[in-house]
Formats: sequence, C-alpha cells, structure tokens
Amino acid sequence: MSTCTACATPSADGGKKRLRIAIQKSGRLTDETEKLFSRSGIRLTEDRDRLLAHAENLPIDILRVRDDDIPGLVMDHVVDWGIVGQNVLEETTMQRQVDGLSTGYNQVMDLNFGDCRLSVAIPAEQEWHGLADLEGKKIATTYPFLLRRALKQARVNYKQVLLTGSVEVAPRAGLADAICDLVCTGATLQSNGLKEVECVYRSQAVLIARDQELFPEKKALADLLVQRFKGVLAAAESKYIMMNAPREQLSAIKKILPGSENPSIIELEGDPTRVALHAVSREKVFWETLEQLKALGATSILVVPIEKMLD
Ligand code: ATP
Ligand code: ZN
Repeated sequence: MSTCTACATPSADGGKKRLRIAIQKSGRLTDETEKLFSRSGIRLTEDRDRLLAHAENLPIDILRVRDDDIPGLVMDHVVDWGIVGQNVLEETTMQRQVDGLSTGYNQVMDLNFGDCRLSVAIPAEQEWHGLADLEGKKIATTYPFLLRRALKQARVNYKQVLLTGSVEVAPRAGLADAICDLVCTGATLQSNGLKEVECVYRSQAVLIARDQELFPEKKALADLLVQRFKGVLAAAESKYIMMNAPREQLSAIKKILPGSENPSIIELEGDPTRVALHAVSREKVFWETLEQLKALGATSILVVPIEKMLD
C-alpha cells in the first residue's frame, strides 16, 4: 500500500482506480470548476485548504494547486486530468520544450468558461498603428513565450520585461512602454490608464488528460465523466421554451425557434385555434426571438433554464 504524500492518506489502489484531477486551488477558474463538478454529480469535501480532496461519492481525488503547476502535473503523469486555461497550457508547454521536459498531453474538451485574451496594451493617450509600433520597445508580461511567438510572427524586435504580477502598473512605473497581459473586460487596463490595442492569444479553460492509456476501471469513470461534463455544457446553452400560440402560425414559429427539435404540441381546453408549444432550444434564446414569436401571436412565452441533459 502506498501513501499519498499530499494528505498522508494511504492510497490503496496504487493509482489504478481513483481518477486524479488537478484544479486551481483559488483563483478565477476555481468557482466554475467546482460548479462543473457539482453539476456533474461529483460531491467534494468542503475543506478547500487541503491540497488533496477526495470526492465523497466517486473514486476521484482532487489536487488543489496553483494553475501554473497543472500542465506539468499532467505532462509528468502525476495526475490523470487537469483543468487549466489554454494560455497557461501553451505557455508552460513552450517553457518545458526549452527546458527539455516532456510536453505530451491529450486535450479532452473545451469547458466554455475562463474566457479571456492575452492582449497588448499601451498608454491610453498614445496612437496605435499595429504591432510594428512595438519595434525596440520594452514590453512587460507574465507570458514571455506567447508574446515572443506573436511578435516573432510579426517580425518585431522588442525588449522583454518579465514580471510575475502587477503587469498593468509597469508603464506608469516607468518599467515598460507597453504590456502584454490577460484581459477580460478591460476595466483593469482602463483604471491604469491603458488601452487594449491587439489581441495575441484567445483562451478558455480546457480539460486535459495525460497521454497514457488509463487502467480500464479508471477509463470507464473518465468516459462517464466526459459524458456528464458534455451534458452540463449542453444544458448551460440550452433552454426549455413554452408558449401558447395560434395553430395556424405553427410552421412560422418552428422556423424561428433556435436550434430546437420537433416541439411538443398540446391541445388547449376550450380553444381549438390555439395550442401550447413546448420545445428545447440548443442555442441561446435572444430577446429578438421572443419578440418575433409575440408578433406571430404567441402569448405566455416562458424560457426556462435546463439543469441537466442526457442525449
Ligand atoms: P494562481 O494563484 O493559481 O497562480 P493566477 O493569479 O495565476 O492564480 P488567475 O488570475 O486566478 O490566475 O487566473 C487563472 C486563469 O483564469 C487565467 O490563466 C486565465 O486562463 C483565466 N482568466 C479568465 N478571466 C481572466 C481575467 N479577466 N484575467 C485573468 N485571467 C483570466
Ligand atoms: Zn498562476
């Protein structure tokens, strides 16, 4: 029997049965990751401070670490799965190539959260004509490899200023002429007197797996979880739509409903000209669609979120 060095709990299976997943301990990916787990029926022990948590109802161990460590843990086969931003994954991969370390992994699926972009930003008052403006300039970043790749493609020579945090204050502090940093809304840039001028990389959270066959029992669990994750993501986009509508407008209404299968049509007691219509839409439902439905005579239009979905 081997002992788990993280939590000093003996792990009886020697890594054969329990699926090990590395997730961000505390940061921008943590809440969404835990939401995905709970919606997928993985119940985690409450204590966020422990490095290793065990799921209460499935043979899953969760390793809570800094996001920067997650790609390496997967590539070194310490864990089976990792959830991490593509930006960190790409950056770490390039760093490990330089360091001569293994870089193999399988991308399992995109997770539709943690959307952000790595962008160049300059002082708001300066003009911008394109990446060539950065020739000979000092650029502060936490992502030296992604920046280098983008500027190499653009054939721009620049001076790199490597910072591990507070990149956005570098221009004002006189440390750099521009920055290359993660942006979501742009509010942080704005409050530091900067403007986003060019996106060099788009990112979202991804599920990655180590590039080795899993033991059969773990493989079965992994396949089941991927199906559940897909169901959660599909449900997040989908809506259940209900309305009462004139029978004669049914074909026009069906054409408007976004990405829906054949709707159910239900008789309305006492009114043969109108029916109730229920449908699952697999796309986002916009206000414009509801307004068009109303214009066709639909009433009592309800759009309801779907929690789980299994096809
Ligand atoms: P850690 O302590 O784990 O190293 P961190 O400070 O490096 O955390 P966070 O700021 O929590 O990382 O961001 C984690 C990831 O979330 C980013 O690498 C990126 O993929 C994603 N992300 C989503 N939105 C944003 C945003 N607005 N700003 C920065 N990162 C974002
Ligand atoms: Zn980090």
